[in-house]
Amino acid sequence: MNGKPSADALQSLIEPLCEWYETHQRDLPWRRDRDAYHIWVSEIMLQQTRVEAVRPYYERFMTALPDIRTLAECPENDLLKLWEGLGYYSRVRNMQKTAKMLTCAEPAGPRLPSDREELLRLPGIGDYTAGAIASIAFGQPVPAVDGNVMRILARLCTDGRDVREAAVKKEYSRRLEEAMRGYFGEERRFTPGGFNQALMDLGASVCLPNAQPRCGQCPLAASCRARREGEELRYPVRSRGKARRTENRTVLLIRDGKHVVLRKRPEKGLLAGLYEFPSLEGTAGREQALRAAEEAGFVPLQIRPLEPAKHIFTHVEWHMTAYEIRIAEPEGSGGDWFLAGTEQIEKDYPVPSAFSAYTRYLQIRTGAEAKRS
Ligand code: SF4
Repeated sequence: MNGKPSADALQSLIEPLCEWYETHQRDLPWRRDRDAYHIWVSEIMLQQTRVEAVRPYYERFMTALPDIRTLAECPENDLLKLWEGLGYYSRVRNMQKTAKMLTCAEPAGPRLPSDREELLRLPGIGDYTAGAIASIAFGQPVPAVDGNVMRILARLCTDGRDVREAAVKKEYSRRLEEAMRGYFGEERRFTPGGFNQALMDLGASVCLPNAQPRCGQCPLAASCRARREGEELRYPVRSRGKARRTENRTVLLIRDGKHVVLRKRPEKGLLAGLYEFPSLEGTAGREQALRAAEEAGFVPLQIRPLEPAKHIFTHVEWHMTAYEIRIAEPEGSGGDWFLAGTEQIEKDYPVPSAFSAYTRYLQIRTGAEAKRS
């Protein structure tokens, strides 16, 4: 392949890759069957999150919400708690919206459609997820193109274009689809879902990002132009993204012996509807931190600074300083700031991992830590 992938060249990769997949596929809990709900949930969880991190979440989610109807009916707080630590909470909110729509349409047995175009009309289902569900669960010859697939194809054909460009991704999808429709148009030993999963696994374990491709183990090495030219590390070409904005915040761990103060975040925007330790904008001094606690109705006894922490979101970085403020046993709550016991927080309040430095400090297990217990 030279510069751009052609459908014919891509078609010639299907068999060697599928054969490799037969013996090298990863054993993943969502691959035990081809249930569309299982594939949907796993693919949404896997966006932005590593496979190993997803495993305990997936198992817990399926135990709590084994099908579309239980997902549709789950109270929001419980749902966010199940997702706690995975981040990008709009993903699970959109899943629930979709589950509600499907349950409304077919109360007796809600199910995901098999057609990619219909899947694309559902909240939170984009090209990649629609392709994964349609191909793996329903055997449709459609691709599922994500960053892994882009990297593999860019290396295979030494494509010097910017893989962040939507037009490049569109072209890769179109060519792959042509190749898949051509190949799977006849009776075959392999399946479209198997091929897409083979690409996923190749990207996850062989054609690794950055300086780590394991070309010696690659079933496509003989067809790979980057490998032939010794230029694996030059591809994929990626433009620099927009720089992230930095936000300074001062986190307040206001606590008496058994409880710590939480507040609920607004229903819209970053980390919407989740619970957090109250924080002040900017880097506040001790006096300002004490004043904030007093204004919320608490009586501070002691204050001490804690280790700073950083959390990176897609477009913003939080640089956090923090204080622990010990308070006298409160008589009432402080408006929307309220006291919660640590066990109650573990059980009932979804706290985003942005605060993990401080939940750990308080020995509150959240997210994956709670899910392992
Ligand atoms: S030969 Fe190397 S660079 Fe080419 S597809 Fe395989 S792992 Fe990636």
